Amino acid sequence: MHCSVHQEIEAVGLCCYCAKGVCRACAHDLGCGLACSDSCATEVRISKEAGRRAHRIYGLRGKTLPAVMLTNIAMGLVFVTWGAAERDSRLGVFLVLMGLVLLSAAAISRINRKQTGI
Ligand SMILES: [Zn+2]
Ligand SMILES: [Zn+2]
Repeated sequence: MHCSVHQEIEAVGLCCYCAKGVCRACAHDLGCGLACSDSCATEVRISKEAGRRAHRIYGLRGKTLPAVMLTNIAMGLVFVTWGAAERDSRLGVFLVLMGLVLLSAAAISRINRKQTGI
């Protein structure tokens, strides 16, 4: 394979953005691959940066979800014990039901996390 710019020169690798052959003179070394031009090098850097940023947001979401889940569980347990101790039986049932709703919300978010693989 030959360089896409210098047809007579043997390529040393492929541009990792447009997959054209690049010779030693044309190659922009990106550390993890080659680019055939400045614009390709820029595109590769931008897409790498975007990927890293997405990963950061993704990582943050992974941390906030269990916190919400733990709050739901804690609140649910508070409501259930409060409802069980409540002397007014109608209010007690209501509080226990509220607690169960919160606990099942936590359980559902746990199942959703498993399904989406977060
Ligand atoms: Zn290129
Ligand atoms: Zn070249």
